[in-house]
Amino acid sequence: MKFIDPHIHVTSRTTDDYEAMAKAGVAAIIEPAFWLGQPRTHVGSFQDYFSSLVGFEKFRAAQFGIRHYCTIGLNSKEANNEALAEEVMEIMPLFLAKENVVAVGEIGFDDMTALEEKYLRIQLEMAKEVDLPVLIHTPHRNKKQGTYRSMDIIEEHEIPPHLVVIDHNNEETCEEVLRRGYWAAFTIYPKTKMGNERMVEVVKKYGPERIIVDSSADWGVSDPLAVPKTGNLMLERGVPEEHVELTCYKNALAAYGQSGQFEESDWLTPEPIDQRTLFEGNSVLRGGQDPRVDKPEDDRIIQ
Ligand SMILES: [Zn+2]
Repeated sequence: MKFIDPHIHVTSRTTDDYEAMAKAGVAAIIEPAFWLGQPRTHVGSFQDYFSSLVGFEKFRAAQFGIRHYCTIGLNSKEANNEALAEEVMEIMPLFLAKENVVAVGEIGFDDMTALEEKYLRIQLEMAKEVDLPVLIHTPHRNKKQGTYRSMDIIEEHEIPPHLVVIDHNNEETCEEVLRRGYWAAFTIYPKTKMGNERMVEVVKKYGPERIIVDSSADWGVSDPLAVPKTGNLMLERGVPEEHVELTCYKNALAAYGQSGQFEESDWLTPEPIDQRTLFEGNSVLRGGQDPRVDKPEDDRIIQ
């Protein structure tokens, strides 16, 4: 079975992760622009980060047979630095126009401050202007309140719910998010709140429609294999294969496919891997390692 992980911060992950993901059937991934741990102090840091999301990281993923896409946005935490946020708003349209950018995001609330709301609203308007879907990050504290408030604001801006993925849901928010017509994404964090056991129960209870599974794996304790592991657990627990396919592949494809930048044909007939390739003079190999070079005639069509 093949999978899409529509929310993973692979910039923070290793080449071992890429190899394991490809082996587990992850064919395509989306890397949302987010907070890096260390708060940024200059707009140039955002510029280089966005460039890396549409450039080097896409190259690096391809070296391991994974198709990489991204979303561009100012995260909620750094929206609280107003002077910097203003500058980020100025450079965003340039990046939103790049190939492989499938949404504006991840945007939303962290502490539910006035500045977070201001830049959420500005970015929702930007999404409308460039006609891209939106990825909403919901807060980890005051989850329910933050999720409902985000949806109220989206509705004020008259963005149709089918263009919006609300992420980091739990059992408390799922029902209302689905009822209002949004895509409801679930982040599977190992050992915590939304583990894969609980995800299986959510899919059994609500069915597969508009539910999306992701890992949100980043520089913290997280699991880049969360999507294939959850998919396999669902199968083990008797969830129909068709439902696993929807929640771990097809729904993400449908939601982000609305960007016109996310097409299955991109990864079903991939370019052969050639690790001799360089990006700005950089290779993924170190000190005399043997490059993996697949021949074009190899049967690389993903089943
Ligand atoms: Zn994230």
